[in-house]
Amino acid sequence: MKKKNVVSLIIVVLIGIGIVFSGKMIVDKSSEVVNANDLENEIGTTLDENGDILEIHYIDVGQGDATLIVQGEHAMLIDAGTNDSYLTLEKYLKEQGISKFDYIIGTHPHEDHIGGMDKIIKSFDEDKILFPKITSTTKTFENFVNAVKSKNKKLTTPVVHDKYALGNASFEILAPNSEKYEGLNNYSIVIRITFENTNYIFTGDAEKESEDEIIKNNSDISADVLKVGHHGSKTSSSAKFLTAVNPKYAIISLGKNNSYGHPHKQVMDRLSVANIPVYRTDEKGTIVLKSDGDVIQFNVKKENKDRLKE
Ligand SMILES: [Zn+2]
Repeated sequence: MKKKNVVSLIIVVLIGIGIVFSGKMIVDKSSEVVNANDLENEIGTTLDENGDILEIHYIDVGQGDATLIVQGEHAMLIDAGTNDSYLTLEKYLKEQGISKFDYIIGTHPHEDHIGGMDKIIKSFDEDKILFPKITSTTKTFENFVNAVKSKNKKLTTPVVHDKYALGNASFEILAPNSEKYEGLNNYSIVIRITFENTNYIFTGDAEKESEDEIIKNNSDISADVLKVGHHGSKTSSSAKFLTAVNPKYAIISLGKNNSYGHPHKQVMDRLSVANIPVYRTDEKGTIVLKSDGDVIQFNVKKENKDRLKE
């Protein structure tokens, strides 16, 4: 064989290999999730930003919870941080161009979840406010109820298995499954968002008792991303629950050097044994996830990291 022919043959073989590999990559795309090491990267090119996108912002509100979910023109807020973190939260939401929510969910009456809720309700428009059927005697709760009344709104009580649309995404209520619990945490509204081929679970401060009920009442609670219950407390994230959800990623919302010792070692160990990468707002600041319904990508806006230190 002449040298020129050998070169041509090699080129043909290389092109053939290339076609096989690119074909395989397209097939695998449905389950593609970016590598944990890419967390700090800006959004890459594999996500089709011109298509339909779901955004989830795990907002850094210190020791508390506040999550913004955006799909197209539709937005939803799960919890509103503490009284003290309100201005940080409001600034962040306005920077994102948010003025109205399709839904506001207050997971349960604790101050680290509904501290800023009264001001959110007064400062933003909202269609529906979901809240569990439980009251509290705190000033924070009273402020929340008064804000709801001042807008002539009624609270929507969550019903397990009810589904709501958020643009082209939807979410299903997974908890609370009972009417009476000992502590307030288990009243937490737990939801599972579905966007095309991806799923996301938000647990509030639900503990093992509620997790067990969720497993019992559902055949499939698998999710790509789990927002870890109760700020990584050992009361939550049982091994059984983690197995049932089987997340590719876990997010924990918590404050630096918090007085509860969150996240508890037992939970971090369980996540580590299950080989689930963990992203924490105390380490990364606000964590932003984007998905086109197949690919899931994270980035961390570094400028947010120091916001609460002021
Ligand atoms: Zn909490």
